[in-house]
Amino acid sequence: MSHTKGKLYVISGPSGTGKGTICSILTKDPKNEFSVSMTTRAPRPGEENGREYWFVSKEEFLENVEMGNFLEYAEVFDNYYGTPKDMVLKRLERGHNVILDIDVQGGLQVRKAMPEAVLIFILPPTLTELRSRLEGRKTETRDIIEKRLSKAVNEIRLIGEYDYLIVNDDRDVAAAKAASIMTAEDCRVPDKVRSLIREYEQQQKGE
Ligand code: ADP
Ligand code: 5GP
Repeated sequence: MSHTKGKLYVISGPSGTGKGTICSILTKDPKNEFSVSMTTRAPRPGEENGREYWFVSKEEFLENVEMGNFLEYAEVFDNYYGTPKDMVLKRLERGHNVILDIDVQGGLQVRKAMPEAVLIFILPPTLTELRSRLEGRKTETRDIIEKRLSKAVNEIRLIGEYDYLIVNDDRDVAAAKAASIMTAEDCRVPDKVRSLIREYEQQQKGE
């Protein structure tokens, strides 16, 4: 079959809900590529530049904004985060699915810029469980955890803007649901079916 473009997936949900965990399961499939965002946040212990994020200064980030290098960007928890546009477009062109782990403000910007993107929201089973996941991750101070928890309900209010909702109770079940959504999206009748029909016509001629 002829070359088809990959699909863009946005994964959002409150901090600590398990977005990173699900993305790392999904990207075990080589067809799915994680988009590494640029951020002004400091790296956490164990994070590597270019793997979890591109860690840059505020000046460098704002230069990239000026140059129009982001598909979307937002200020989240007092830091800037943005999705490098070229990398995403190149990968989609090569036929790879691209997965963005971004906040709801970013998700809504992507929806406007690329309406064909598929938006998936990951909910924690309860807010108490969300707190215990954030505390258990041991990557943020108590103050920052409180800040992240206080934003959770505001984000949850925007679920209606998303296409799919997954409650991350068991991580493997949640990742399997996300993979099933991707499989279903692969089987969606494409908007531009004409090229597919032409391909079958050519195959028929060749028979
Ligand atoms: P996010 O990327 O949404 O901020 P993470 O993927 O970092 O969240 O997950 C937050 C913490 O919760 C991590 O310590 C992770 O191992 C844990 N976690 C993720 N999914 C589950 C789950 N289904 N059950 C229990 N713990 C989970
Ligand atoms: P963290 O600091 O925990 O890695 O991420 C904090 C929040 O920023 C998460 O909700 C994450 O999804 C979001 N985020 C990460 N990268 C981007 C990005 O490029 N754009 C936007 N809008 N949000 C991002």
